[in-house]
Amino acid sequence: MTLERRAVFLDEMGIGPLWQRRDMPVATETPAALEPMPAVALAEERTVAEQASVIAAVPRAPEAPPSSAVAGMNWMQLKESVAGCVKCGLCNGRTKTVFGVGDEKAKWLFIGEGPGRNEDQTGEPFVGPAGKLLDNMLRAIGVKRGENAYIANIVKCRPTDGNGRDRPPTQEETAACMPYLERQIALIQPTVLVALGKTAALSLLGLDPETPVSKLRGTVHRYAGLPLVVTYHPAYLLRSLPEKRKAWTDLCLAMTTYANA
Ligand code: SF4
Repeated sequence: MTLERRAVFLDEMGIGPLWQRRDMPVATETPAALEPMPAVALAEERTVAEQASVIAAVPRAPEAPPSSAVAGMNWMQLKESVAGCVKCGLCNGRTKTVFGVGDEKAKWLFIGEGPGRNEDQTGEPFVGPAGKLLDNMLRAIGVKRGENAYIANIVKCRPTDGNGRDRPPTQEETAACMPYLERQIALIQPTVLVALGKTAALSLLGLDPETPVSKLRGTVHRYAGLPLVVTYHPAYLLRSLPEKRKAWTDLCLAMTTYANA
C-alpha cells in the first residue's frame, strides 16, 4: 500500500496525519503534528517500543477443551453446526447466526464481541458504521476483509437485554459458543489475533470481568500459543474519538508483532 493510500485510511479513522514508519513498522515517536494529549491520557500511553518489549504470560482463558465433535469439524461442518445451533438461549432471539467472514487462510484474525442489530439482520460481522471503521483500520495495516484478514465474534448470535438493546454475552453464553471460535482459529491458523474490545479480550484471556481494556493494551498476550493484541472495539471508538489514536498505537504493536512472528 502506498503511503498516500494509508494516509487516506488513517484520515478515515480520524487519526491523520500519517505516522511515518521507519525501517521497522514500529512508531517510536509521537508525531509533532498530532494534537497534544491530556495529561492523564499521556500517563496511560506507552510508546510502541515499550509495548513491543512486553510479552505477557497470560493464562489461556478456556480451561475446558472444545467439544470433540466441534474440534474435528471442517469448515462446511462448522458453518452448518453454527447455523443450526441451539446450545444457548441466544438462539431464541436471533434472525441469523453470524459465523464470521474473510480469508480462511488469513494471517490476521480480528475478534469482536458478538452481533448487533445490523449483523443479526445480515449474517455478517461488523457491518454499519463500526464495520466501516474496522475496514479502514484493516486497510491502514495493509489488509482488508477477505484478503489476509478474517473477522469473527466471541458469540455467533445477537445478545439483547429485556428492552431489545445490545448487551455483552454472559459467561455461560460465551462458554457455549467458544468451541466454534476455537475451531475457527485452529482452521485459520492466523499469525496474529487482535481482540476488539473488552468482552473479546477478557473472554479469550480468561481475566476478571472488571479488568479494563486500558490495562490490557500495550502488551502482547498469548492465546493458544498465538500472539494476541488488544485494542478498543470500533463501536467504542465511534463514541470516543480521542481513543482512535490509541487504537492506531495498538495496530502498530500488532504490525510489529506480525513482522517479528
Ligand atoms: S450464541 Fe453460539 S452457542 Fe449460543 S445458540 Fe448461537 S451459535 Fe449456539
